Amino acid sequence: MKTSRLLGPQRGRVALALAAAAALSIHAPAAQPPGPNIGIAVRDITPELPIRLAGYAGRKRPADKRDHALQVQALAMQNPSGERFVFVALDNCEVSHAFMQPVRDRLKETLQLEPGTVAVVSSHTHSAPVLDQTLTDMTQPPPADQERIQHYSRSLQNTLVEVVGAALADCQPATLEHGCGRATFAMNRRVYQGDQVVFGDNPDGPVDWDVPVLQVKGTNGTVRAVLFGYACHGTSVRSGDDWYVVSGEYMAYARQHLETHQPGAMALFLTGMGADADPAPRGRLLDAKRHGLELAGAVIGVLGRPMRPVSGPFKLAYDEIQLPLAPPPTREQLDKDAQSNDAHVRMRAAAYLERLAAGQPLPQSVPLPIAVLRLGDDLTFVLMGGEVVVDYSHRLKRVLAADHPWTIGYAYEVPCYIPSARLIKEGGYETDSSMVYYGFYGPFRGAIENQLIQQFESMVAQLRSHP
Ligand SMILES: [Zn+2]
Repeated sequence: MKTSRLLGPQRGRVALALAAAAALSIHAPAAQPPGPNIGIAVRDITPELPIRLAGYAGRKRPADKRDHALQVQALAMQNPSGERFVFVALDNCEVSHAFMQPVRDRLKETLQLEPGTVAVVSSHTHSAPVLDQTLTDMTQPPPADQERIQHYSRSLQNTLVEVVGAALADCQPATLEHGCGRATFAMNRRVYQGDQVVFGDNPDGPVDWDVPVLQVKGTNGTVRAVLFGYACHGTSVRSGDDWYVVSGEYMAYARQHLETHQPGAMALFLTGMGADADPAPRGRLLDAKRHGLELAGAVIGVLGRPMRPVSGPFKLAYDEIQLPLAPPPTREQLDKDAQSNDAHVRMRAAAYLERLAAGQPLPQSVPLPIAVLRLGDDLTFVLMGGEVVVDYSHRLKRVLAADHPWTIGYAYEVPCYIPSARLIKEGGYETDSSMVYYGFYGPFRGAIENQLIQQFESMVAQLRSHP
């Protein structure tokens, strides 16, 4: 960047190419200490059939087919000075705090990994198994299906620990390059009808069409891994027979295309902040495959053009922030809701009433893991738990523009949706009606957006090498 600015734009491509070569061969290694060693690992997590799938309240029965294997992949980074961080890309809708507790404990026990150093990023496919203690109020699996869910969950918890260990054991020197493409199938799904916000296609609503890409090469120049992201729900499949087919959705199809294009490399998907976007068009598995093609095409385009070198060790800042909720419901309201015709409303009220009966306080806030992972001064991953709406992605990219931000949602765990101040004012699914599935009375207070942005700004400032 610095060299090309000195040369000026009038020299065109040759000057830029020379500048890039100079930056690579002279400036980058001299300016930055060596970057992290990188390790990768993958495990198969395809469930036995039949099994209940997560993400939609409307499914009537377990899935009895699968379109391809599900995977959990890990990419580990280890600095020359020893610090470690691991991205885990998981083919599932999401994981809860309760589901992750035994995994966190074992990562600490067996690998001495502190909270925050392993970020499980769920792809948010809506065609993968229901997990124990995760969004179970939404799907309400009958007792007959419980045993299989328990069994799959225990096995996945073991595999998560195993894949992290395997990626760390694989760490070796690597070079990193970053770029960004674009795919346009994410569609804002909030449609305004009178004073209501309903589900639909809103081509005027905000979306984030960026496709960030990080290429990892070995010292011999072969591509070992390609990290890529996109900000959109994994809901291409929404009804019919395809609703009962296990699949990793558009992200997994994109991954397959990329691994065919780049044999021997592992492609890992990191979900963005697009919780108020659905793919368009949507309906069948064929739509997921089509979106996978578009996304893979965007990534391949980036890989084929000059990319920015990313150098230097990483630094991590991790925090668990408390996001305040509106005042909890009165006892009267809870008693009324406990008689509701809606089973989800009844279950939420019953859980709150149980807390009161046990002398426990009602939830006043929701804890949310957040993190910033900065590679030298070249790339800044901004990670948030929860189903994060697109306004956060846009605002973080604006306020952190000079830091080359890459925004990631569904990281660590998902307690509920994380709406912006605008959405909290407007209402609708991401603000109000989704909360019942997560067992909370909401909504959040409008101040949570500024609280989060300020916290991220201060974390990034802490990690900058230069003031
Ligand atoms: Zn969702």
